[in-house]
Amino acid sequence: MSMIVRLHAEADVKCVQAELQGLGLWSQMSVSANGQPPLLIIKAHSRAVPLRQLQHVLGVAEVFQAPSEHQRVDQQANQAVCCGPVQLGGGNVPLLMAGPCSVESESQIFRTAEMVAAAGGKVLRGGAFKPRTSPYSFKGHGELALGWLSKAAKHFGLGVISEVMSEQDAEAVAAAVDVLQIGTRNMQNFSLLRVVGGLGKPVLLKRGTSATVEDWMMAGEHLLAAGAPSVIFCERGIMGFDPQTRSLLDLGVVALLKHVYGQPVVVDPSHATGRRDLIQPMTRAALAAGADGVLVETHPEPSQSRSDGPQALHEDELLELGRCFPIRLAEDSESSAPRAARLRSVP
Ligand code: PEP
Ligand code: MN
Repeated sequence: MSMIVRLHAEADVKCVQAELQGLGLWSQMSVSANGQPPLLIIKAHSRAVPLRQLQHVLGVAEVFQAPSEHQRVDQQANQAVCCGPVQLGGGNVPLLMAGPCSVESESQIFRTAEMVAAAGGKVLRGGAFKPRTSPYSFKGHGELALGWLSKAAKHFGLGVISEVMSEQDAEAVAAAVDVLQIGTRNMQNFSLLRVVGGLGKPVLLKRGTSATVEDWMMAGEHLLAAGAPSVIFCERGIMGFDPQTRSLLDLGVVALLKHVYGQPVVVDPSHATGRRDLIQPMTRAALAAGADGVLVETHPEPSQSRSDGPQALHEDELLELGRCFPIRLAEDSESSAPRAARLRSVP
């Protein structure tokens, strides 16, 4: 929440700013009219400091809260999101969400769903409508794939997530999934956000590869304003400069969204790195930064994958990844073991 600080006429602005910075607050001077003392705007991503404490800073006359531009996003802070049979965020243990880049056949998605369930995953991902860089690449099996995906998820008791690429496909996707995904390329496709928000299901909103946190949160506000019950923010890597990883995983914003804004946030280390050997270390880093879950790609036979094979985890790698996640307490309520011992986290 931004705050506005009105200064006394004789205040030394630089001293006040330095004092505020010492408290973990980032301020910006706003030009004042008619010789009035300047106002300082405290940026929303600053540390949360009680108003009373600010009022005692030398030179400060008055402090008040500025209206937020994303009130609906602010209101969903610290709340859990329903992802079908399971809850994400709001203090729940982090979720493993996994599946193939593209749903390629009924047998492929059933086999993958079995692998995801065995690894302790709770949500099955899979693309039915695929955004591809080349117009000649496989673009997904569309509605046919949605049917296979939801059948496989139901069979293994998993939640389902899949991407909506266009307004035309939105209703068909919504009928098959628990969470609708907006891909990185569509983060600011506002007409698509309006339609998808209006479907009344939670939305996982991937960050655009050059979007600021403010752009991203405003896109979330579009979804919530259109009727989405909640938005999960997904960091999937931004534009970097080094081709050794596919994108640049920005974990700083994960900590920011979680610990400063209280938002539901997940990380997609698969698209961020583009390499299966980096998925486990980046998952651990994401969980340490405060992520409520990760979304990863896996395939029964990665070498046969029709898209994103190099980043798809093999079955044994997915099982190992599952061991990085704590067991949900509800599953383990019979156990008399102390909580620490019930965590499967590998040190
Ligand atoms: C995906 O999750 O399959 C995908 C295409 O991701 P992104 O939008 O992050 O590129
Ligand atoms: Mn992919």
